[in-house]
This record gives sequence, C-alpha cells and structure tokens, in this order.
Amino acid sequence: MMYFTKKIMDLASSAESRLKDVFDKIEYTAQQNQYRVMRAYSENRVSYSHFFGSTGYGYNDRGREVFDRIVADVFGAPAAIARHNFVSGTHALTVALFSVLRPSDTLLSVTGKPYDTLDQVIGISGDDGGSLREFGVIYRQLDLRDNGIDYDALEKELLSAPKVIFAQRSRGYSQRLPLSVEQMNTLYAFVKEHSPGSLVIIDNCYGEFVLEAEPTADLLVGSFIKNPGGGLADTGGYIAGSEKCVSLAANRLTSPGTGSEVGPTLDQTRRLFQGFFMAPHTVAQALKTAAFAAAVLSECGICVSPGVSDRRLDIVQSIHFGDRAKLIAFCEGIQAGSPIDSNAVPVPWDMPGYDSPVIMAAGTFTQGASIELSADAPIREPYTLYLQGGLTYESGKYGILTALSRII
Ligand SMILES: *Cc1c(COP(=O)(O)O)cnc(C)c1O
Repeated sequence: MMYFTKKIMDLASSAESRLKDVFDKIEYTAQQNQYRVMRAYSENRVSYSHFFGSTGYGYNDRGREVFDRIVADVFGAPAAIARHNFVSGTHALTVALFSVLRPSDTLLSVTGKPYDTLDQVIGISGDDGGSLREFGVIYRQLDLRDNGIDYDALEKELLSAPKVIFAQRSRGYSQRLPLSVEQMNTLYAFVKEHSPGSLVIIDNCYGEFVLEAEPTADLLVGSFIKNPGGGLADTGGYIAGSEKCVSLAANRLTSPGTGSEVGPTLDQTRRLFQGFFMAPHTVAQALKTAAFAAAVLSECGICVSPGVSDRRLDIVQSIHFGDRAKLIAFCEGIQAGSPIDSNAVPVPWDMPGYDSPVIMAAGTFTQGASIELSADAPIREPYTLYLQGGLTYESGKYGILTALSRII
C-alpha cells in the first residue's frame, strides 16, 4: 500500500540515509538521559502506592514529595516543585518571577525580549493588569551578540546588582539560535562571580532532555505539556533550583506558611511519573522528527535552521519558506497529518499580543501540547514556520510527509 507518491517516498528515504549519524547521536543522548531518570526512580524508591493522589489540602502526599524529589535529582538541582497545579509554562515562569522580585528590584533579561506570553507578566506592553511593572519592578534587557550573551554589557549591568538575571534557553518563536547548557552554565558562573546577590532564572522550555544535562540556575522553569511531560502529562509545570528560591516559589504557588507542603494531586500523579519516565525517549522522537523535516525540506531547496547536521539545542525547527502560500499550505498539511482534528483547516488569525496574523497547526491529544507535532507561524516576511514535537518518529514522519505533499 502506497500512502504517498513515489517522489515523496524517494525524498524520505534519501533524507533518512543522510540522517543515520544524526539519529545515532539523538539516541545516544536519550540513552544517557534515560539512565539518569532510571537511577532517580530507583534511588527514590518510586512505588505503586505513590500513585493514589490526594484531595483537599493534600497534606502528607508522599507521591507528590517523591515526584518533586525526582525532578530535582534528574535536573541536578537541590530542590523542585513539579506540579499539575501549574497551568502552563507561562504560569510557572510567572510564579518564579513574582516569588523573588520585590518593588524597585530590577529584572534583567540577557537573551533579548523574553517569550511573547511574558510581555504582560513583565508589563513590557504597558498594560498593568497585575504585571511586575505595576508592582514597581524595573525591567531591562540586553540583546544577544553574535548568538551569545553580551558579556561586556552584562558586566556593566552587574555593577548595580540587579535582583534577577533572566535567560531563555530555546529560540522560542524567534530567529535567534538557542543557547547550549554550557553557555547557560557560563552565564551562571559569571553572574555569581560579579554579583553574588543576583539570582539567575532560566526559562528552560523546549530544552529539557535535548542535551545530557540541564542548566544550573537559582530557578529553572518549564512546562509538562512540553518536553518533560513525555506527551503523557495532562498539564503542569516545574520550578527547580536552590532550596531557598524553590521555597519562595512554593510560597507564591500556594501561600506563605504552606509552601510545598500542600497541593492535592487528584489523579495526576501517575501520569506525571510515567510522562517524566517517557520524556527522554519522547524528546528523541521529537528531535528525529525535526531533523527529518530539516532533511526533506532542505533537499527541496528550502532554508532551515538548525541545518540537518547542526547540533540541536532545543526541539524547535525553523523553516524559512519565503513564500506566504507555501507556508500556509505546509501548515495545513501538518494539521491534516495529525491524529486529532485532521479534517480541520488552520487559518491565520489576529492573536492578541502579536502584530501580524498567526497560523497554527496542532492536532494534539492534549490541548496545546507542543511536544506533540505542531507548527506556528506569524504571517509576515520571511514567512518562517516554527515546527516542533512528534510523540513518535513514525507519526511525526507521517505528518511531515503529508505537509510536504501539499507543497510539491
Ligand atoms: C512554551 C514556552 C513558554 C510558555 O509556556 P506555555 O506553556 O505556552 O505557557 C515560555 N517560554 C518558552 C521558550 C516556550 O517555548
């Protein structure tokens, strides 16, 4: 049975033969990360009895405590709160920022403008519906220089000891390159050397399990409907870091005095445990899907970033179509090649917070889960699509080939 034309299948096999080494590397990293996860599960003695969640206040919920511990151990942090009570990555980042920033403190972003959903949290856009700005927090920003942190400018900024140094690891939906874990750790060491009182907060979204370690930070933040949820978590997020900072974050998530000691897990614990267990493998599937997209599209003369054999630092694949119609057709194909809502046709719409219409394809089991194959693009020059996810390489490849069929 032929599901795609011979031309498409030939492109696919030629791409896959180019990708052997790339796939080997991705699988090697997944294995290393899986070792680390397995050790944490065994050392923390995860047991079936941990899966029966709590209700009400959620006092003495052993499963919750063990899961917090596992996330801390795997991410190399002294402490963590890893909960379904975080609605999203944006919520976890909001809790992290509000937990340590106080009136007249400075928040300095060193990787340019943070992810769009943080505009209103910080108050960059000027509206004050409870933003940090409304509480008197000063926001400053340094843009990246030569794809890295501008250390000359940062050294000057650190003279006034800003309270928080904020860095985003992934490219997010921008043209910049992601930063590696080594780059993030260099930043952490530099900040501690020049301004020991400053705290480093890292937006780790889309970066988890892509490399063999996670960055060191006072607060490391991410979402469970992306990489670390392994495609199984229904919702949630995590904040990992120093004991002191994580305790402040827990006080902000619940309330001062209860902190991490409360929080009913309902029936979510097993899915979080199982999702985090799956995550190294699932991230590898997403990375292979992204590399496959890069290979077939570059073979068709379309410019992609990262390139086929570039070192991948997050799960996002940028595709520069340079053509409105092709971009939209490809995006429609991603939707058509999804397991859910494959009959829906995505249309560009004026999303709040964006200055041009945005098109999004996401036929996902979990609403908005971008560890599942999904694609987003602002409809403007240079017509760049951001593609990420894929729960299995086989289904990711199916999605990419369906989309490819729409443009050739
Ligand atoms: C997804 C993402 C966020 C926000 O997470 P949501 O779960 O969508 O709220 C923040 N930063 C980066 C880099 C992201 O990729």
